[in-house]
Amino acid sequence: MPTYTAPLRDMRFVLTELAGTDRLRALPGCEEIGPDLVDPVLEEAAKFCAEVLLPLNRSGDEEGCTLENGVVRTPQGFPEAYRAFREAGWTSLGADPDYGGQGLPKSVGMLVEEMICSANLSFGMYPGLSHGAYMAISKHGTPEQKSLYLPKLTSGEWSGTMCLTEPHCGTDLGLIRTRAVPADDGSHRITGTKIFISAGEHDLTDNIIHLVLAKLPDAPPGTRGISLFVVPKFLPTEDGRPGPRNAVTCTGLEHKMGIKASSTCAMAFDEAKGWLVGRPHKGLSAMFTMMNEARLGVGVQGLGIAEIAYQNAVSYARERIQGRGLQGTQAPEKAADPILVHPDVRRMLLTMRAMTEGCRALSALAALEHDVSVRHPDAAVRQQADDFVQLMTPIIKAVFTDTGWDAATLGMQVWGGHGYVRDNGMEQFARDARITQIYEGTNGIQALDLVGRKLGAHGGRYLRSFFHPVLAFIEAQQDVAAMEEFILPLAKAFGRLQQVTGEVAQRGLKNPFEAGAAATDYLRLFGLTAMAFAWARMAEIALEKDDAFYRAKLATARFFMQRILPETSSLSAKVLAGGESLRAFEDAAF
Ligand SMILES: Cc1cc2nc3c(=O)[nH]c(=O)nc-3n(C[C@H](O)[C@H](O)[C@H](O)COP(=O)(O)OP(=O)(O)OC[C@H]3O[C@@H](n4cnc5c(N)ncnc54)[C@H](O)[C@@H]3O)c2cc1C
Repeated sequence: MPTYTAPLRDMRFVLTELAGTDRLRALPGCEEIGPDLVDPVLEEAAKFCAEVLLPLNRSGDEEGCTLENGVVRTPQGFPEAYRAFREAGWTSLGADPDYGGQGLPKSVGMLVEEMICSANLSFGMYPGLSHGAYMAISKHGTPEQKSLYLPKLTSGEWSGTMCLTEPHCGTDLGLIRTRAVPADDGSHRITGTKIFISAGEHDLTDNIIHLVLAKLPDAPPGTRGISLFVVPKFLPTEDGRPGPRNAVTCTGLEHKMGIKASSTCAMAFDEAKGWLVGRPHKGLSAMFTMMNEARLGVGVQGLGIAEIAYQNAVSYARERIQGRGLQGTQAPEKAADPILVHPDVRRMLLTMRAMTEGCRALSALAALEHDVSVRHPDAAVRQQADDFVQLMTPIIKAVFTDTGWDAATLGMQVWGGHGYVRDNGMEQFARDARITQIYEGTNGIQALDLVGRKLGAHGGRYLRSFFHPVLAFIEAQQDVAAMEEFILPLAKAFGRLQQVTGEVAQRGLKNPFEAGAAATDYLRLFGLTAMAFAWARMAEIALEKDDAFYRAKLATARFFMQRILPETSSLSAKVLAGGESLRAFEDAAF
């Protein structure tokens, strides 16, 4: 069975040495952030994930969720684990102290999220969705909605959902048919069918708070006419307890490839009572609060899967013996050498490692900017930090989830046939990872977001939040001899990114099809360059130190620069080739 040890050493490194806690500590509410506060949190989370969540990962996958008479049962052990999770305070980690939260910054929260996703991705869906609901209500809700729902979501007594998708409407939310009719008492009656709703129904919490996109009778067509409603499963009583049942039911559970212990529900709203969140017809932008948080969260799901797949691939490669090493026999006392000696196996392990640690580094940098963007007293500083988060959100979602899938399949490859059969748990990682590239906006849609919305935003302001620091770093390091092997490849990739960005922007302005044709390759080129920046910064830190951890950092940085980053060359060639070969192919010939 797979094992998991939280990578605490690397987590501390990205938090304290790479991102650095000085900027964090300067933020209101973060003054106490330091090893005394953070280490026990990370260590406790690591323990909980390894001892409580990991053992339920396989059984949850085998058993799945069941639906009987509208009631969904999660797999055995899940309700108890959720109660323990909640009682230990993990649902309240990042929430506002005004609502009972612990107010810890995202820089710490994202590390804990990664551990949960490594240990049990399905379990992590339940608190993950609640976090999104918390964010939407805290940003757009009325004071009454905040005081009613936020403490319950913080304590984890109630959970949240995000109800966007309908049978005929996935990516294109302008097609939504769910209706909201105003009632005399100021509430609305919500009617419609939602599908694929994660945590739509389950037995973990006393109440479920659905955040539902619907259209008012006077709604303008398309996405400009969508409003957001809060629809509780049980209507809260005056004193805030779950009261009468609302007219919302789970009518079916999806049977799916992975994350089987996460309930994916078809939901029927039959004149259910709901309340508007935010302004009429402005629901999509309110929902984007949730979606942006969720996109970072889904990126971290990819990272979590990549980490556990890597750990289990390494342990297998150490013990499985097959063939002899090409540099001579390594284990003469055995009938064969461990497969770890083979260059192709090392290639797979180092690819997994370099991408996983690169993702963790980028996620720490983005989390720090996220904390600055919400906590810094100066609006201009907040905005600058937010620019970086906006730019990085589609990149983190898409590149990290692609990394999760790639690492899961590489991990399976390292295990050979023993990875493909169910017994050893490696194939579950692949099945679980695959959805992360699809939900929360497919990775193709993330690429369009980057090219269509983020590149040109505010006259290129988002772009500058990345381009300027990279340029400054390259300039500062270009004469440092020991850094040459990292700075040269970074500068090359960055040059490609700059050139291609100009081309994509120009061609896209003339013809949007060109921007769409370039988007996915462009996003990956951007993501790898951002990771190269993170790797070069990590190398700079590691060069100053000398122990096994830093030596491995440097060796991984070298592998990244030599064996992964060159992919940017072919990506830039693909982007520059333009979209003609896609456009010219006749539809009938497909
Ligand atoms: C397990 C699971 C859990 C989910 N959880 C939730 C949830 O909690 N809440 C919720 O509301 N939804 C949820 N979803 C739905 C999920 O977010 C959607 O499946 C996803 O957004 C894609 O929509 P779709 O499946 O309808 O695909 P479609 O929108 O039909 O897309 C099909 C393909 O076409 C591409 N495509 C579509 N439009 C464009 C375009 N304009 N340009 C380029 N390419 C395009 C897509 O990238 C994709 O490759 C979940 C789905 C699953 C499977």
